[in-house]
Amino acid sequence: MLGNVLFVEDEEALQMTVGDRLRKEGYAVEYASNGDEGFEKATQLPFDLIILDVMLPKRSGFDVCKGIREAGLITPILMLTAHGQTSDKVSGLKIGADDYVTKPFNMLELMARVEALMRRAPIRPPAQAGALDFGSIHVNLVGTEATRDGKPVNLSAREFQLLRYFIEHRGATLSRDELLRQVWGYSANMYTRTVDVHVASLRQKLEDDPKQPQFILTVQGLGYKFKA
Ligand code: CA
Repeated sequence: MLGNVLFVEDEEALQMTVGDRLRKEGYAVEYASNGDEGFEKATQLPFDLIILDVMLPKRSGFDVCKGIREAGLITPILMLTAHGQTSDKVSGLKIGADDYVTKPFNMLELMARVEALMRRAPIRPPAQAGALDFGSIHVNLVGTEATRDGKPVNLSAREFQLLRYFIEHRGATLSRDELLRQVWGYSANMYTRTVDVHVASLRQKLEDDPKQPQFILTVQGLGYKFKA
């Protein structure tokens, strides 16, 4: 899988043609059909790229883009602007979009822009081993599953991503800022409490005694460290 793409577009035909093409190229695609839904998904789920139409019901693509940046997200945004609206391009880039393609666009051109933006996206550490055992926990990174004593552990998507990041950086002290940036895609210093809440939840699910964690350790004043 090359990456997760959020495609915010209200025209069904375009959703389908572009979505199919993206999936064929190896991307996972999530859709939103209006500005409100687009903003919600963009700020609640992790994406490597957001393709955002300007003309949307409920909230314009510009407002969505602005809102995403105001929320501190650094996910690359590719805007789809209307033909002839040169001002659209300028406004889009001013409020934090990374690039734009004018409608009607050539599919190859769109894919080239997508690829270029994905290369610029924050680099994700490659999954090393496909699986890891610690204590009574087995984590299958490829299948995104975890079991405890052979029984499935119910982890949210974000919890799994956090766990994956810990596993891929085991032994290293990870600051809350780094975790926020790498796991949530947020710029530093915002919502650091979010990290603590998710760490607490992971400990509940994975540690024998969440108050005396053996694996997800607190490094006083610095952050967290995963030991396995
Ligand atoms: Ca539209």
